[in-house]
Amino acid sequence: MLKGMTFMDRPRIIIFDTTLRDGEQSPGCSMNAQEKLRLAQQLDRLGVDVIEAGFPVASDGDFEAVKRIASSVRRPIIAGLARASIGDVDRAWQALQGAAHPRIHIFLATSDIHLKYKLRITREQCLQQARDAVRYAKTLCADVEFSPEDATRTHVPFLCQVVEAVIEAGATTVNIPDTVGYSTPDEFGQLIRILHEKVNGIDKVVISTHCHNDLGLAVANSLAGVQNGARQVECTINGIGERAGNASLEEIVMAMRVRSDRYGYDTAVASEHLYAASQMLADITRVPVQPNKAIIGRNAFAHEAGIHQDGMLKNPLTYEIMTPQSVGVPDSRLVLGKHSGRHALALRCEQLGHQFERRELDEIYRRFVILADRIKKVQDSHLLELIQDVSSGMISNSEMSGGLKRKFQPATASIPLPRAASAAAGVSSSVANGSGGPAQVTIPFTDHHAEQEDYLWGV
Ligand SMILES: [Zn+2]
Repeated sequence: MLKGMTFMDRPRIIIFDTTLRDGEQSPGCSMNAQEKLRLAQQLDRLGVDVIEAGFPVASDGDFEAVKRIASSVRRPIIAGLARASIGDVDRAWQALQGAAHPRIHIFLATSDIHLKYKLRITREQCLQQARDAVRYAKTLCADVEFSPEDATRTHVPFLCQVVEAVIEAGATTVNIPDTVGYSTPDEFGQLIRILHEKVNGIDKVVISTHCHNDLGLAVANSLAGVQNGARQVECTINGIGERAGNASLEEIVMAMRVRSDRYGYDTAVASEHLYAASQMLADITRVPVQPNKAIIGRNAFAHEAGIHQDGMLKNPLTYEIMTPQSVGVPDSRLVLGKHSGRHALALRCEQLGHQFERRELDEIYRRFVILADRIKKVQDSHLLELIQDVSSGMISNSEMSGGLKRKFQPATASIPLPRAASAAAGVSSSVANGSGGPAQVTIPFTDHHAEQEDYLWGV
């Protein structure tokens, strides 16, 4: 923390989560509306300020998901993405208008390479289109964000001109995307500083960062942006996103919290829910977290070397810069067995990203006791399989009775996967009774990317 500053004095950085939009665009990370809603509720518990719920014009499924999240997640701002056109803005607004705090997020590429080869428009036309789209959105919604796509490869004086124009047109947040993950921390920080120095009216808006990780610099670039005046960071759980991903939310939040002596800022994120959010996303998308992933990876708090273990036992501060509890990693010393009560079971489920109604917990507890009787120590992977079995049973029941329906029939892929291997990889299967040998596991996934090919680009 900066000298003389109290915790309360530290400026708040707005955390804009785009797991459900940019993250969901990455291969293998498609989610259906029901899964998106579940994750949005976890993001709400986590305390993020803005949830970008989707790209409503991209598909009916995306539209439905944004609409459903807007009507049921009431605390955070709910954003929907739109290209700079009346049709897109209208569609975004139709999906968002039921939100307690709606935000229309418009993007338009500004780099010469995008203008020439993708959009085939001149700089003048780009400037006009950006201004018109923001002005139109402003007639519908007070909160409008604008992103000049590929900002970091845009001619800087032209970028300043566009930013000034959209501020005049009424934008309240201006996001600076490093769309292709090309920038470096000093360069990105300098760009944010130049905007602050050159653009009239910049003090009236929030400047935001949106960094991609193609060179592994997304988090460093975002933090450099913050140090040069950005007050919103766009990021995703587990760093998922186009290509190499986005800046990882958990890394941004914990870097600012653990190194508050270097970053005089904080966020409203309740970091003890980070692990649960990460697990829930991995569980929904079936994309496991790499073991050495900072903050929430399986090995992030594991100490194997003898000398490290010795140090840890004497004093955890020898090798630990933050506690596992501070990010919600379950206490591995708490072993679940047949003597564990319902409360301990509910707590561990919550830590793994699952919250249950009483009736569901009853069923999970009943099966847990039977399992614990058989295998003595119930590991997290066992518990996740059990949860998956129970919830897939309950979801299909509620679907039968006219509850939440999938917009599209899920495609299925049959992958021969030994049950034990799937458990070890943190993948849950819906096979009711594993024989221990290889089983045909049917993994359902909704693939609406096929119908939104034109929209795979974004900020
Ligand atoms: Zn992006």
